[in-house]
Amino acid sequence: MNDYYQDLGVSRDASAEDIKRAYRRLARKLHPDVNSGPEAEDEFKRVSQAYDVLSDPEKKRAHDMGADPYGGQAGGFGQGFSFSDIMDAFFGAGAAGAASRGPRSRKRRGQDALIRLDIDLAQAVFGAERELTIDTAVECGTCHGDGAQPGTGTRACDVCGGRGEVQHVQRSFLGQVMTSRPCVACQGYGTVISNPCFECSGDGRVRTRRTLKIRIPAGVDTGTRIQLSGEGEVGQGAGPAGDLYVEVAVSPHETFQRRGDDLHCSVELPMTAAALGTTLKLDTLDGKTDLEIRRGAQAGDVVTMRGQGVTHLRGSGRGDLLVHINVQTPTRLDAEQEELLRQLAALRGEERPEGQLAPVSHGLLGKLRDAFLGK
Ligand SMILES: [Zn+2]
Ligand SMILES: [Zn+2]
Repeated sequence: MNDYYQDLGVSRDASAEDIKRAYRRLARKLHPDVNSGPEAEDEFKRVSQAYDVLSDPEKKRAHDMGADPYGGQAGGFGQGFSFSDIMDAFFGAGAAGAASRGPRSRKRRGQDALIRLDIDLAQAVFGAERELTIDTAVECGTCHGDGAQPGTGTRACDVCGGRGEVQHVQRSFLGQVMTSRPCVACQGYGTVISNPCFECSGDGRVRTRRTLKIRIPAGVDTGTRIQLSGEGEVGQGAGPAGDLYVEVAVSPHETFQRRGDDLHCSVELPMTAAALGTTLKLDTLDGKTDLEIRRGAQAGDVVTMRGQGVTHLRGSGRGDLLVHINVQTPTRLDAEQEELLRQLAALRGEERPEGQLAPVSHGLLGKLRDAFLGK
């Protein structure tokens, strides 16, 4: 059988005032509006039932004599009453400090907006200025956000008398509880617009297209979001505007591939230039740049051009540009070229190479593995 004194944490000779105070303290701790813990709701029902019994002289007497007015069945006590309803029952209206008392404002903060912006790699590397055309809600120029035809205004709601809420009185174990619900006739505003603005139909804002200049910082990548405070939708009733987020998408480049803040590209090098060394003029994102190729360059060599990659979005400096060397073997030789190559092979004793197998880490497999691991 339930021991309701124990449930409320009071002694058997507790006064009516002690019982009330104990319940108030527990309701503050356990009401599902203020405590989202998994057991809070059941505990709240239990202490509400205990209070229901101990605050009622008839039921209390039955309990003291060993009977259980509810036969051990847990009822739904306390359900249907919000935390502020319970606090109001003890302390009077507004005691819980509920925010939703009285008419609510027609002004609302506007929604945030998100748009996608395609940029090219050079814009991501160096940053850029771009113009955006966006479709967004702005304050209505006819009613300036009131929602009423100019010169008509609003009138007090006759259902709630301008309070924006309607009160209901319920009898319950707490005594008479006054609960407030937003007025349905005026949606809680307390006022009604008799002649809605023709321009915005009473919303206080209209959709329009406008152009915005934005600065894209150097170093952005696909998925980076740029926040523009107050450039989102104007709120209902011309309330403060939300924020605009611009999500960047970087288009793939024909020759440069980005990995983090480094850029990778490949260059074709004739076999003779690979053997003799040379200086290449590369068309990088920074313009024509000289690249020194050492004598005896190998297929798969990577030459690093420091500081020619993507600007770091945070901090300073830039990543690197890594140039992968492809050695081109001539496929079509005229008679004279073939003769010269045969002479060279003979001079180098390479007419019949032996087919020496390379160790795994130095050969093609090693290079494939390094590429796979991003080395
Ligand atoms: Zn308007
Ligand atoms: Zn109303």
